[in-house]
Amino acid sequence: SQPLLQVRGLTVGYGRRLGRSSPVVRGIDLDVQRGEVLAIVGESGSGKSTAVRGIAQLLPATAGTVRFDGQDLTSLSRRELRAKRRDLQMIFQDPYSSLDPAMRILDSVGEPLRVHTSMDARERRTTVVEMLQAVGLREEHADRYPQEFSGGQRQRIAIARALILRPQLLIADEAVSALDVSTQNQVLRLLEDLIAELGIACLFITHDLGVVRDIADRVAVMYLGTVVEVGPTDEVFARPQHPYTQALLSAALIADPVVQRQRRRTKLEGDLPDPTNPPAGCLFHTRCPLVVDRCRTEVPLQRRSGGADVACHLVEPDPDADHDPADPET
Ligand code: SF4
Ligand code: MG
Repeated sequence: SQPLLQVRGLTVGYGRRLGRSSPVVRGIDLDVQRGEVLAIVGESGSGKSTAVRGIAQLLPATAGTVRFDGQDLTSLSRRELRAKRRDLQMIFQDPYSSLDPAMRILDSVGEPLRVHTSMDARERRTTVVEMLQAVGLREEHADRYPQEFSGGQRQRIAIARALILRPQLLIADEAVSALDVSTQNQVLRLLEDLIAELGIACLFITHDLGVVRDIADRVAVMYLGTVVEVGPTDEVFARPQHPYTQALLSAALIADPVVQRQRRRTKLEGDLPDPTNPPAGCLFHTRCPLVVDRCRTEVPLQRRSGGADVACHLVEPDPDADHDPADPET
């Protein structure tokens, strides 16, 4: 069946100098199935946030398509896009970005109902209170203002607002990163339970690989604005294939000596290159411990290998793969 979200060749740029914007996201492909959680991981500067802002049409795409629930979002008018937004909601690292400090919680959380439904004020209040209870808050909280709440409570409120219309897709960009660890865990559990219960698909950005392993069905690894590996979370964690994925996991697993011993250590040399002036060939070649000559000139295509799609010259594609990401017909 058709995925809920099908991103093809999405390119997003930032800043326009001399009439030209430099791409920060370079032609990425991603699918999210209905009800699925896809995590996007990668260093800061890898283009994760820009990619999801491009998907949500908060930043304009310079190329590519974003098919969501059967429609290409990049081709919609403002009005059509606004109507679509009820099915595509976002939460950010800083809950203040979705909560107006001058608005009572009742009005903030109820705003999507006012914009997208014909509910009257009483129905809205009932629905908001139910939603606040679902995120662990109480009825009397509806009449307070955002600054009266802790960071964790504010993020619960942002979640209530994002889910009140029962969207088909929730995009969460580092949604718990600003919270202390125990609050992070509580808010994550809550989010995980709610999206499972409501059958909401989720595109989840995080730098925390432990969180990925806990909640994501699949994981996409980004490097310099490209997806270098995407596959089922279990597969990617058990057998990372791209040298960058190996380095990322290897760095994160130092605290896990058992797993660490079984895995070849891959250490990352050097810094992330300037995203607006990336290297030729494989974008990872300046830091790759396995680099060979062709990597410096030839861009590796994504191929299906061992259940994942991997873009590296050294990865052997499955001989009997029923799906070749380089071939849209499969
Ligand atoms: Fe490393 Fe070459 Fe593979 Fe790029 S294509 S990840 S440089 S081995
Ligand atoms: Mg970011």
